[in-house]
Amino acid sequence: MAIEHIVIVGGGTAGWMAAAAMSRIRDGRKLAITVVESEQIGTVGVGEATIPPFVEFNQALGINERDFLSFTQGSFKLGIQFENWGQVGESYIHPFGAYGYDIGGIGFHQVWHKMRERGDKRPLQLFNLETMAAYYGKFSRTEDYARDDLPPINYAYHINATAYAQYLRKYAEQRGVVRHEGIVKDVALDGESGFVTKLTLDSGKEIEADFFVDCTGFRGLLIEQALETGYEDWTHYLPCDRAVALPCNRDDGSPPPPFTKATAHKAGWQWQVPLQHRNGNGHVYCSQFMEADEATDILIANMAGKPTADPNHLRFVTGRRKKFWNKNVVALGLASGFMEPLESTSIHLINTGVNKLIATMSLDGVTEAQASTFNRLTVREYERIRDFLILHYKATRRDDSEFWNYCRTMDVPDSLTEKIEVFKANGQVFREEDELFTTTSWAAVMLGQGITMDGTSPMADGVADASAKEVDEMAKSIQWLVQRMPGHKEYLERYCPAP
Ligand code: FAD
Repeated sequence: MAIEHIVIVGGGTAGWMAAAAMSRIRDGRKLAITVVESEQIGTVGVGEATIPPFVEFNQALGINERDFLSFTQGSFKLGIQFENWGQVGESYIHPFGAYGYDIGGIGFHQVWHKMRERGDKRPLQLFNLETMAAYYGKFSRTEDYARDDLPPINYAYHINATAYAQYLRKYAEQRGVVRHEGIVKDVALDGESGFVTKLTLDSGKEIEADFFVDCTGFRGLLIEQALETGYEDWTHYLPCDRAVALPCNRDDGSPPPPFTKATAHKAGWQWQVPLQHRNGNGHVYCSQFMEADEATDILIANMAGKPTADPNHLRFVTGRRKKFWNKNVVALGLASGFMEPLESTSIHLINTGVNKLIATMSLDGVTEAQASTFNRLTVREYERIRDFLILHYKATRRDDSEFWNYCRTMDVPDSLTEKIEVFKANGQVFREEDELFTTTSWAAVMLGQGITMDGTSPMADGVADASAKEVDEMAKSIQWLVQRMPGHKEYLERYCPAP
């Protein structure tokens, strides 16, 4: 059956990202797109840190960066600083860009390791632009300097996600998307195919459509409540199941750091996401080892300013829907599954989900092949991210609480065990299929948390000899650039000040 009407249920980040991207579908046919959302139910209201592909998502929509960052009180993000993960008191940055660049076919961190064995004690961080700029609280773009020997800077944003959804709503409505306010009370299924056919709102209004996108958040109104798709629970690998979120002011006028902070506590970890004039904060924790009151106290005690709202308590089950595309329903955002925001991957999964949906679907109708392709690709993507998140917990040396004892000794997927073993042997990281996280990402977390390379690549000897000058130049270019960059606050005030 041809698709003439698509209904997106839910108007959070997922709903409006889907609506904005789908409003650009043009294949010469008449296609109506409707968003149904309920102000009374509201949105989850957290989720402010993003990763670099989000920059491209907005560029593809033709969004003006200055305008968008100003509207969302956004700041730039160069990576994530992890504190107390390997051991209490330790700290490292997982940067967005690469450590140096591959030389002679091997990863730069492997060359660095060889140089270190030979007595060169320069830290690996010196060869990463984003880490160095983050340490000095600087930001600008490499293109601002007329030199083509400089490394490109990789960045993402911290944003007020509620403002972002409002921004996209305006974008989508200007392109013909129609919004209905109301609570969906009933979902009708076709008796034969099991496809969703009609929604009934609390006002009695009925909305029929050919295809539905479920963006209703954790409740999964269509994908779970109507279609009973089922959920794969990953709590045994990622045991945190609660969060408490609380923004705070930065009244002291301190500059927003150009990075997210993830500080481990005794049964979870705390995020700090700096916007232009306030910080988003939250504590993700495991209810088996900590009560909500204690989690809130720890959060408040470790915040950089005074709270500006009441604590927002959230519950979640880490995992994914057994199918993301079931019948004529595709779930995006929290309706599709959830992994804690340790590496800011949720908005990213909305982004890739929308892209995959647009690439897979045809307005001629839904086929089984489309659904199974979408599901296979998304499962793979979820599992690769899951493994990377588990690494942060498994690779701890902490033994100061029951929570960390559990994490350190838990069983992990074979795919992750193999990855760690191969890295230990000679520093090799295979970026498998089209996985999100790069060699630098894996190396940053493993080295940052104390997993060492016990050997070096058989190629490293020769490469380290031949490339000493090249390596020096690399560090010098980064130093040159960071010295000239303005402070992050100064850059924001000039480029995209919040109104
Ligand atoms: P929601 O925001 O819950 O929106 C659901 C929508 O569905 C609402 O509009 C609601 O009104 C509507 N709805 C529901 N039921 C009905 C109904 N019956 N009738 C009509 N409308 C209905 N992601 C990141 O990328 N970075 C982060 O730093 C990050 N931090 C996070 C921290 C926490 C603690 C949590 C829980 C999530 C975090 N996320 C983060 C994830 C991010 O918040 C979500 O991926 C994102 O906000 C998308 O949410 P959503 O739109 O799927 O759901």
